[in-house]
Amino acid sequence: DAIESPLLEVTGLRKEFGGVVAVDGATFSVAEGSLTGLIGPNGAGKSTTFNCITGIHEPTGGRVTFDGQNITGLPPYTLANQGLVRTFQIARELSEMTVLENVMLAPGGQVGESVIRSVTPGLRGDVVKAETAVRDRAWETLEFFEIDHLAHENAGNLSGGQRKLLEMARVLMTEPEMILLDEPLAGVNPTLEEKLLERIHELRREQGLTFLLVEHDMDVIMNNCEHIIVMHQGSVLAEGDAETITSDERVLEAYLGG
Ligand code: ADP
Ligand code: MG
Repeated sequence: DAIESPLLEVTGLRKEFGGVVAVDGATFSVAEGSLTGLIGPNGAGKSTTFNCITGIHEPTGGRVTFDGQNITGLPPYTLANQGLVRTFQIARELSEMTVLENVMLAPGGQVGESVIRSVTPGLRGDVVKAETAVRDRAWETLEFFEIDHLAHENAGNLSGGQRKLLEMARVLMTEPEMILLDEPLAGVNPTLEEKLLERIHELRREQGLTFLLVEHDMDVIMNNCEHIIVMHQGSVLAEGDAETITSDERVLEAYLGG
């Protein structure tokens, strides 16, 4: 079934590492406003695909378009400016800073600038107002993820799950259109997992955000994603809704056969 309004399109994507072909002609689309899951057995090429889309790896071949624009091989900073972001683990230097500081620093170029422009039209000197705007937005974002009580805690002291919420809060500060998540629930307790998934659904509903989720927990994928892409040996083996995927013999074989 063809995707009606694709926001992200990956066509014939290929990535070689020396002699290893990690991604071998992967082709798929992600519909605008969807929560799409990317699954597959270990070594299927999910993370490499993810890294090629998000500008971590330069693809060996193929094409990636976002919102109709060719974004193949563009670096993460440029992609963030276009509204396509991925979560990053909190870097060591940032773990010494508070949760609030981490979120306030996140906008970097794009949102920092857009917030500043909105309060300082062509004027210098209203930096304080601009900082207040970023701070207000940071608090709102912390409240949204229910980590505002941790605002003054060093990021390094957070639990694994709280850190994932902080990573999400940081990407949300950049006002993205699409968020890519690579195993965001690894090591997250069930309560925080539920919270994170609820927030993802809410962001789709309220703001029309699009998500591509790489996750090895099948239940999470099957219960939350309306479209699922199955990779195997570097290319797309099957795609469809949970029912389609679970009744596909080839998918079962791929998981059993590795
Ligand atoms: P997945 O995320 O689905 O488990 P990966 O994309 O991590 O799969 O890996 C796909 C294949 O590419 C594997 O065979 C892996 O060993 C190989 N691979 C991934 N990254 C590298 C790399 N940096 N150098 C060499 N081989 C790699
Ligand atoms: Mg992986």
